[in-house]
Parts: sequence; C-alpha cells; structure tokens
Amino acid sequence: MGIQTTYLGMPLQLDDLDVENLAFFKHCSAHNFHLQKCAKCGLLRYPPTTACPWCMSPKSEWVPVDAKGAVHSYTEVHHAIQPAFKAHTPYLILVVDLDTQKGKPTEHEALRVVGNLTTPDGKLAPPDMVRKVGIGTRVRMVFSDAGPGLAIPQWTIDEGTKQPDKPWRYPQE
Ligand SMILES: [Zn+2]
Repeated sequence: MGIQTTYLGMPLQLDDLDVENLAFFKHCSAHNFHLQKCAKCGLLRYPPTTACPWCMSPKSEWVPVDAKGAVHSYTEVHHAIQPAFKAHTPYLILVVDLDTQKGKPTEHEALRVVGNLTTPDGKLAPPDMVRKVGIGTRVRMVFSDAGPGLAIPQWTIDEGTKQPDKPWRYPQE
C-alpha cells in the first residue's frame, strides 16, 4: 500500500509500486536510517534503487547505517517557491557525505544524502543556526515526521563532535 501525506503544506506521495522507497521510508518513520547493502559486492547505496549501481545485482538487504557525516555542499534558499516554506527562509539544503563508505569504491565517491538543516527535533533551522553551517560542518541525521508512516531524513549540527574552525560559506553580505 502506498503512502499519501503532507509536509509543511506540500503533498507527498509514495506509490505502492515503489517498493524500495516504501521500505526506506518505513525505517525512517521509526527514526532509523537503513540502506540497501548489495548481496554480491557488499556496497551500500543511496538513493534506494532496484539494482546495485556498481555491479547491477538485484539482490540486497536493508542494514542499519550510522548517519553521521560532513557537509559536502549546500544551497541557502532565500526565495521559497513553496508558500509554506516562506516563513522559514533562509533555510539550507545540505548534501552530506556519510562517513560510512566514504571514498569507496573510488576516492571520489561517497554516500551523499540530501536534507534540510533542522533543529535536533526536526524543525527547519532558525537563521542563527543557518549562519553557522557551511562546507565541512559535521552533522548527524534527525527526522521530520510528515504523517503516518512517513518521516523525512534531515540534518542537524553534531554538537557532540569537533567542528572545523571555519566551515566554508559563500561570502556574506
Ligand atoms: Zn553490488
């Protein structure tokens, strides 16, 4: 069975044929981060897919993954195209390199997981928090509940670890 809900006024839908994403978000709804591990080559992959992007094997199992990493890149949104996000500008969209499997299978690869910067309880981050984060900031995954059976993986500053002295940010006005 598929899932239909809303998040900040935005409709979200997972079709019942989208078995990989339904499985992925089922773990997310329990605030657990799981990825598919290929039964043939043993590599994890993200986003969820039917076959392994490295060896094409269709066989995989869901395994828990430590969801910590560093910001690889970011976009700071000042003009929300979705009305419900307007009250939350500026907000950040982060691309995060997981520590898990970083540099495999080549030195340029990483599991790169996109999410917004949020507070530890999964609310879009306030401006003073947005200003602290840039490329290199250490983050950990949290979840924003978006209705029954669906939570969105997001990122918050990992206060329990050493941060870079000065994460790279676009020049500020
Ligand atoms: Zn594989």
